[in-house]
Amino acid sequence: MTALILHGGAGARRNVNYDAEIAHMRDVVEAMKMRLNAGATSLDVAVETVRMLEDSGLYVAGRGASPNLAGAYELDASLMDGATRRAGAVAALQGFRNPVLAARAVMEKTPHVMLAGEGAALFALDQGLEPIGDEDAWFTQAGKGDDNYPPGTLAHGTVGCCVLDAEGRLAAATSTAGVFGKAPGRVGDSPLIACGTWADERAAVSCTGQGEYFIRTAAAAQTAWRLAGGQALADAGRSVIDEIGALGGDGGLIALDRDGVIAAPFNSQGMKRAWLTPEGEIGVEVFGV
Ligand code: ASP
Repeated sequence: MTALILHGGAGARRNVNYDAEIAHMRDVVEAMKMRLNAGATSLDVAVETVRMLEDSGLYVAGRGASPNLAGAYELDASLMDGATRRAGAVAALQGFRNPVLAARAVMEKTPHVMLAGEGAALFALDQGLEPIGDEDAWFTQAGKGDDNYPPGTLAHGTVGCCVLDAEGRLAAATSTAGVFGKAPGRVGDSPLIACGTWADERAAVSCTGQGEYFIRTAAAAQTAWRLAGGQALADAGRSVIDEIGALGGDGGLIALDRDGVIAAPFNSQGMKRAWLTPEGEIGVEVFGV
């Protein structure tokens, strides 16, 4: 059995047209369905999915990044392999096209889980990761109806993915430029294991929204722990989003369990997302539940 769910951010708003994102998300899921059918691991598929989302320029991650208040592009990403509990992350990384690949390299090539700032950039350079080129630099999504966002409100489109492979292994990955108008050096939930990203033997979770609230609730791991404690995945995810809402936060999460059950609760206007069920059906949704 295989399954997948990806998100393109919980900052979707009703007055914006997401046809391009909907078509792109469907294409990505179709490509990943073939990869899973061919026996790819959940970790490879999660990374590849996020890399495609970063490369598209359609979301606030990778090429679609938005700058911080000082005009710099500081990107965050993380991933976790549920079967081994290995994890990797980069925070406030500047100058690279695919932060998710840097996060993977941290996991695989260092004894650490996270590298930040200049150290992360030097490491990424050393690993031969592709710098952001002049011609494709920062296809920023600011301006796409986002001008009304006050600083610190929802970013438009963090990306993330949860995957179950044929061997029953779960993995999750998340990548973002963070919330609009963020302060230099601000790090959100996306690169923080347990907050923005989590995968264990039972569940994989990737979050999107006002990261400070997802940090304060340890949202991704909390969802998995509630599942482990006996709640159904949908109830676990919804109750975490409700807790974030009670604190005053906005956003959503995607989650997948080892039985291929998918959940995607959010309390914002919409959350761009697409999925592949164990039966092989593909779905895409932005506003409907
Ligand atoms: N959670 C991300 C952050 O706070 C933003 C988002 O998901 O849109 O950096």
